[in-house]
Amino acid sequence: MVSASSDGPLAPTRLSAMQWVRRIGNVTNLTTPLGLVVARIGRAEIRRGPRGLLLAEGYRLSFPVAGAFTVGDVVLTGSTFAERLRVTPRLLEHEERHSWQYLCCLGLPFYPVYVVMMGWSVLRTGDRAARHAFERHAGLAAGGYPDRPVIPLPTQLRRAGSRLRRALRWPSVGGR
Ligand SMILES: [Zn+2]
Repeated sequence: MVSASSDGPLAPTRLSAMQWVRRIGNVTNLTTPLGLVVARIGRAEIRRGPRGLLLAEGYRLSFPVAGAFTVGDVVLTGSTFAERLRVTPRLLEHEERHSWQYLCCLGLPFYPVYVVMMGWSVLRTGDRAARHAFERHAGLAAGGYPDRPVIPLPTQLRRAGSRLRRALRWPSVGGR
């Protein structure tokens, strides 16, 4: 169900020409319809938000692991946005940028690109967002992500190797 609201930074605003382009684009590339389906499956309440965003609150599934996430023009959270904005006041700015990224990716190609960038960020920093080009573009601080320094590649590869050995229960070189 879509209902209106009038609460400050969460209130619907008039769409700019570019926001209309994004709205039509993200409906056409099916990401906004997908976002509405995901919200529905997660039994979230949907309402109109600012700048053409649709806000889905009370999302009940545990995937993905995130305080908030965006699918097309739909921004979802397990709690409420009033609550989220108390912790991360610029969160909607961050999530809106993701909605533009969906448009630039022509929709669903966003996902493979996102996953590859996440792998790259983990490899470079051990963190899934710090060197993620989409998350950096959306604004790490605005999204509530800490920035992390790049770790030298040999160190990262050594760590990955020892994690893999542990996973396979191989003794590390030199024993214990
Ligand atoms: Zn983000």
